[in-house]
Amino acid sequence: LSAEIKDSKLLRTQNYVGGQWIEAADGRQLEVVNPATGKMIATVPLSGANETRAAIAEAATQFDAWGRRPAKERGAILKRWHAEVVAARDDITRLMTLESGKPLAESRGEFDNGVASIEWFAEEATRTCGDVLESPDGSRRFMVLKQPVGVVGAITPWNFPFSMITRKVSPALAAGCTVVLKPSESTPLTALALAELADRAGIPHGVLNIVTGDAKAIGEALLKSELVRKVGFTGSTAVGKLLMAGGAATVKRMSLELGGNAPFIVFEDADVEKAVTAVVSSSHRNSGQTCICTNRVLVHEAVHDAFVAALTQRVQALRLGSGLESGTSQGPLISAAAVDRVEEKVQDAVAKGASVACGGARPSWGPGSPLAGGFFYQPTVLTGATIDMRMFHEELFGPVTPVYKFSSDDEAVQMANNTQYGLAAYFFTQDLSRAWRVAERLEYGMVGVNEVAITSEVAPFGGVKQSGLGREQSKYGLAEFQDLKTVCLGIG
Ligand code: ADP
Repeated sequence: LSAEIKDSKLLRTQNYVGGQWIEAADGRQLEVVNPATGKMIATVPLSGANETRAAIAEAATQFDAWGRRPAKERGAILKRWHAEVVAARDDITRLMTLESGKPLAESRGEFDNGVASIEWFAEEATRTCGDVLESPDGSRRFMVLKQPVGVVGAITPWNFPFSMITRKVSPALAAGCTVVLKPSESTPLTALALAELADRAGIPHGVLNIVTGDAKAIGEALLKSELVRKVGFTGSTAVGKLLMAGGAATVKRMSLELGGNAPFIVFEDADVEKAVTAVVSSSHRNSGQTCICTNRVLVHEAVHDAFVAALTQRVQALRLGSGLESGTSQGPLISAAAVDRVEEKVQDAVAKGASVACGGARPSWGPGSPLAGGFFYQPTVLTGATIDMRMFHEELFGPVTPVYKFSSDDEAVQMANNTQYGLAAYFFTQDLSRAWRVAERLEYGMVGVNEVAITSEVAPFGGVKQSGLGREQSKYGLAEFQDLKTVCLGIG
C-alpha cells in the first residue's frame, strides 16, 4: 500500500482520539480489503464501546471552547484543513479507489465535491444570524439565537468514503459542534487520512475524533451517551431505523440519509440521446452503488425500442476493471456479498420474465488475472421489467439498468411513487408544463429535470418517506447542527 501513496504519513491505521493515535484497548484488528483484487491492504482497530466513550469524553471536553470561538476563527481553521486536503488530492483519491474500488475519475469527482463542502461551510458559518421579534403587546422583545447542538456522532458509509465525511464534519465544526466519527469498516483509511490532515491544519485536539471498528458497539455507545446530542448518519434504511429507535431514549436529534429507489422517467418528447447518456451516468455511477443511482428506468412505449437500443450499446461500451487503471469506467462492487445480492435480483427478474439485453453475469478474467479475486459484475441492461420483480421495490446497488414500459403520464408518476423510498427522481421531457406538473407530483426530496447531476454544496440533499430525515449541504444542512434559543427581554 505504501508504494501507492506518496505521503506515507497519510496512511494512518489507528483511532484518532483527543489528538492521539491509539489502538483498540484489546488490540483487535479489522481487515481492509481492496475490492478489485479481494486482497487485504491494511488493518485498523476493531474498536467498541470503550474507545467510543473515550472519544465522546474528548469531544465533550472540547465542546465548550470550540463552540464559543467566533465563527470566523472556526472558519479559518476549516479553511486550513481545506488547503491541506486539496494539497493531498492525488494520495487521497488513490486511497479512495484502493479501498472502495471506484474508478480514479470518480474518486476525483467525489473529492472535488467533498472539499467544496469544507470550504463552503467554513464561509457559511460566519453568516449565521438570528432574529429579533416584538411581542404582540409590545412589552417584550424576543431574540432567536442559533447555537451549536453539542457533541455529534457521525456514521458514514463506504460508497462515498470521502464526501459523506466532509458533508457532516464541515457543517458540524463550522456550527461549533465537536464530532465522534465512525467511518465504514470497508473504507476507514480515507477517514483516517482526513484526520491526519485535520491535525496538520490545527483543528484542536478532541474537536474531531475517529473510531473504527464494530459498527453495532460503536453505534450503541453513541446512542446511549447523554453527551451526544445528535447523530448524523448515511447508510441503509434498516440501520437508520435502528439508530432512530436507539436515539429515542435520550431524544437525540437525527439526520438520516437512507436508501433510495430512484425512478428515471423518459417521456415520449424527451431528447432520447441525452436521456440515454444521463441514465448511463446515473445508473452506473460507482457501479450503481449510490443511494441516488437510477434504480428503475420508466420509458414511454413510443420511444421504448429506440431508447433500449441506444442504452444497450452505451452500457456494453463501459469498461470493467481496476479503478486504478485509466480507461476503466466501471470498477468492482464493494464485497463478494454485494455481488451475490445483485446476482439474486437479476435472477429473480429473469425468472419473472425480464430479458437480458447485455451483461447479466459475472465476468471471467481468466486464470492468473490479478482481478480474478475481485468483486465484479458485468454492466447489465434488462428489458421487460415489471413491478412484481424484487428490483422494482428494492435498491439494486449494482451495475444493472432495468427498463420498464409505460403509456401515460399518470401511469409513470404512479409507478415512480410506488415505493417506500423518496430520495431522488429524474425525468426527461421538453414540455415545460409537464416538467412542472411532474416535478410537483413526484414524492421525492430531490428531482432532476433533464439533469442527473443534482448534488451541490449549495443545495439541500435529502429524502422523504423512508429515505430519511433532515437535509445535508446548504444553509439547511448547517441548521441541522444548530439549536434555536429564544431569549425574551422584558422592556415594560
Ligand atoms: P451499507 O449497506 O451502505 O453498508 P449500512 O447501513 O450497513 O449500509 O452501513 C452504513 C454505516 O452504518 C457504516 O458505517 C456501518 O458500519 C454502520 N452501521 C451498520 N450497522 C450499524 C449499527 N447497528 N449501528 C450503528 N452503525 C451501523
